[in-house]
Amino acid sequence: MRKLALYLFGLLSAAAYAQQSSPKPEDTEVWEPEPKVVIAPGMGKAPSDAIILFDGNHLNEWVSVKDGSPAKWEVKEGVFTVVPGTGDIQTKRTFGDFQLHLEWRSPDEPAERKGQDRGNSGVFMQGRYEVQILNSYNNRTYSNGQAASIYKQHIPLVNATSKPGEWNTYDIIYTAPRFRKNGSLERPAYITVIHNGVVVQNHVEIHGTTEYIGAPKYVAHGKGPILLQDHSNRVSFRNIWIRELEQPRD
Ligand code: MG
Repeated sequence: MRKLALYLFGLLSAAAYAQQSSPKPEDTEVWEPEPKVVIAPGMGKAPSDAIILFDGNHLNEWVSVKDGSPAKWEVKEGVFTVVPGTGDIQTKRTFGDFQLHLEWRSPDEPAERKGQDRGNSGVFMQGRYEVQILNSYNNRTYSNGQAASIYKQHIPLVNATSKPGEWNTYDIIYTAPRFRKNGSLERPAYITVIHNGVVVQNHVEIHGTTEYIGAPKYVAHGKGPILLQDHSNRVSFRNIWIRELEQPRD
């Protein structure tokens, strides 16, 4: 009888121990925080939590880089276009890490405009790091300067450029660089670019500011604007929105 009791006790203890130590599905479930709901209405429309930087009506979110005066590019029929000579424009707001959507269109220009002089503009992350905008449809130039290149740093994986007169989309995921208190670089910026639905830059490291001549370099900075380049070509834009991204959770 005593033996049996000991045996049963042993069995029960083993079961209890097994129950206590065997991993359960819920051990690895994380419930907090709960991601907030965002309405994503689909292609061509901004998600519900996006900041609209151009809605087709005005350039109130943008200023001239030169002197901070209202942006002087032309707004017409839901689109805005570079007015050559008026200079770069940038957002009034500044951003850190973000997801950016923008649409651009090259003008149909005379054949003598070639290479970097054909549909050239650019979108700069934090006012410093350029994703090239160029009419790269049948228009050879240096590969690290064609459309969707990280200008003079990374060649796009493929050339997905639309014909002049047709729209292109850029969807950009950008992680800002981090700097230490003494101004030295702690972590470089990273960028992913999707051009017309095609991945052209896959989480590449940005080596520093965009330079026409010489090597890129990092100079410590905080949040910065989205900047669009006046490169003397009548490039058009529409449907621009941005979503600030929180720091990734570990
Ligand atoms: Mg450019």
